[in-house]
Amino acid sequence: MSGAAPAPTLAELQALEREHAIGTYVRSPVAFVRGRGCRLWDADGNEYLDFLAGISVLNVGHCHPRVVAAVREQAGLLCHVSNLYYSEPALRLSAALARSSLGGRVFLCNSGAEANEAAIKLARRARPRGRVIVLRDAFHGRTYGALSATPQEAKQAPFEPLVPGFMAVDKDPAALEAAVGEDTAAVLVEPIQGESGILPVSEELLAAARRACDRTGAALIFDEIQTGMGRTGTLWAYQQTGVVPDALTSAKALGGGLPIGALITGPRLAGALVAGDHGSTFAGGPLVCRAALEALEICSDAALLAHVQAAGERLREGLAELPYVTAVRGRGLMVGADLSPDLDAGELALRALLEQRLVLNATGPSTIRLEPPLVVSEAEIDDALRRLEELGR
Ligand SMILES: *Cc1c(COP(=O)(O)O)cnc(C)c1O
Repeated sequence: MSGAAPAPTLAELQALEREHAIGTYVRSPVAFVRGRGCRLWDADGNEYLDFLAGISVLNVGHCHPRVVAAVREQAGLLCHVSNLYYSEPALRLSAALARSSLGGRVFLCNSGAEANEAAIKLARRARPRGRVIVLRDAFHGRTYGALSATPQEAKQAPFEPLVPGFMAVDKDPAALEAAVGEDTAAVLVEPIQGESGILPVSEELLAAARRACDRTGAALIFDEIQTGMGRTGTLWAYQQTGVVPDALTSAKALGGGLPIGALITGPRLAGALVAGDHGSTFAGGPLVCRAALEALEICSDAALLAHVQAAGERLREGLAELPYVTAVRGRGLMVGADLSPDLDAGELALRALLEQRLVLNATGPSTIRLEPPLVVSEAEIDDALRRLEELGR
């Protein structure tokens, strides 16, 4: 690395962003340059404790040695082949994903929004012109189909007209059952709504969705983009409910830090999409699939999943004892904490970052989100709680 240019200062990066980046993000004033496990470092060598994991992307932790080794090896072998040919990592990953969950077939893609797009196309192919029903407060992504499935005024309004055929219903079992009919292609549900405040969807509502779909032949699709890959203490969140969906979508943590998405079907919908119906140039590339195979195996480990459940309980108990926390929600290591009304969650997250070097974020005006890597230790949880306690002084 001799002769390497010194790292740019934060002010230099901010100037570049102002001038050259389309400003769609609100960034906190820190630039990370290195990560390992639950730790991040900035260019000045300051160490941070990461309780956000890239918004539930680094479930295996930063730079997991198995992911790094697989990517290094594959990068020197073959990075891309088109889907005109066979490729072992993609097909091994498809098999592993199907066997880990619904037992049908898999379509690989590059992101969460794309996984939901594939799911919507699958459902419409199975029931042509059918409606897609989503829940109030849902978040399913930013592309047009996924955005049309995201009933949030601020995100949708500037981009109308949206894709027709989507309907949002209240999170009420009777309302949902009434909304689903013979003209419904899909009911799309996050088992825990992540972007709108870590809001678990009730067992009753999930069961009502299952009943309505069984009655009408609509597809019940779970968006497990944030809840999946061990985040809630089982590999998939549906495995803790009494409800099995007809398909699920995954992304975020699936690639161990690299971008990938997947639609996984059960047997009933396995043949709904046929040759020529859908595709993506990068989908199933060998590099990211090698990373995902490692991540999936790591996150499937029974001991790790038991750890997620115990660690999540420890985190939630500690949060509940903080004087400025009024409510704690979530499952496993997908945790949200509501703050007392005088506090702004965004401001608290910024103070945590700058004053305590603890990385977390706000999901909603008065809710902070904690989603550390699943490999977080008990000592690291206690350390994070101590830093949060300091913030209240
Ligand atoms: C993040 C997220 C998405 C969108 O994923 P992208 O990779 O950002 O497109 C969709 N649904 C849920 C539940 C998510 O958390």
